[in-house]
Amino acid sequence: MPTVHPPVDPRLDLFAEIDRLRRERKAVILAHYYQDPDIQDLADHLGDSLELAKRARDAKDAEVILFCGVHFMAETAKIVNPSKVVIIPDLEAGCSLAEQCPADRLRAWKQKHPEHHVVMYINCSAATKAESDIICTSSNAERVIRSVPAGKPILFGPDKNLGAFLIKKTGRQMDLWPGACMVHETFSSQKIAALKARNPDAKFIAHPECEEHVLQLADFVGSTSKLLEFVQKDAGKRYIVGTETGILHTMKKHAPHKELIEVPYEDRTAACQGCNACPHMKRNTLEKIYLALRDLQPRIEMAEELRKRALLPLERMLALG
Ligand code: SF4
Repeated sequence: MPTVHPPVDPRLDLFAEIDRLRRERKAVILAHYYQDPDIQDLADHLGDSLELAKRARDAKDAEVILFCGVHFMAETAKIVNPSKVVIIPDLEAGCSLAEQCPADRLRAWKQKHPEHHVVMYINCSAATKAESDIICTSSNAERVIRSVPAGKPILFGPDKNLGAFLIKKTGRQMDLWPGACMVHETFSSQKIAALKARNPDAKFIAHPECEEHVLQLADFVGSTSKLLEFVQKDAGKRYIVGTETGILHTMKKHAPHKELIEVPYEDRTAACQGCNACPHMKRNTLEKIYLALRDLQPRIEMAEELRKRALLPLERMLALG
């Protein structure tokens, strides 16, 4: 059951309170690029999954890690740094990819392919990680796939779109789990093509979680961090940004003279099921951050045996650099 708190006093200066509590609790605040701008701005460290996993592992001086992202990211922080209290503003902040690949179904898939090497995208639960040989993120996925001995067959999950992109990049044959990100799958190639036609000087940059027909239109494909770096270093001036909307805030800060255009998406339902904002990431709010720091709840906890099994494939990834 989700925790229900009494409403936060609206007179509170939440920024000041969060600052006070972060000092009192010796907390480090990690935030993903898909968080709301206010949360990105107050974080001690901002990054993608790989950068934040490293920040969590290296948070030696902190007693508390407050993870402003989704559940599997906070779980990863606990796996790599178990002596810290790891809290998340909203325990219900999930991920469509992680939900689509539970550990028991991965185990059954592995049993049908016992000779395969299991590479799992970091967007999965600790229990699913524990069933994997190695983890990857979108930043290092190509390197991870190339580290698997040539000729060794690969099971890749849970993102079929990232998997298909990696098959193209590396030439490796892989069996793909049929999962997808509910946000990146809503981007419309027809609307992107029309937008590109109206803006011929704008480059379309896309995250590899997008579907193949969308990636075919892209001038550059990369992880969230790579997209950010591209916009900063590229000589162009205008970009259609094919990923979750939160990154635009940091892109504007780092490349203030560039024009950024949000990716067009399919309007699938009246409720926000078809948009470029991740409903899971957006569950985190300033109020919930304040409450999490005040109460040191909700916490990420897991059995030590599970943590150790989930750590192994993460360590293999981190050892690749
Ligand atoms: S944007 Fe997609 S992959 Fe990222 S947390 Fe949201 S649902 Fe998961």
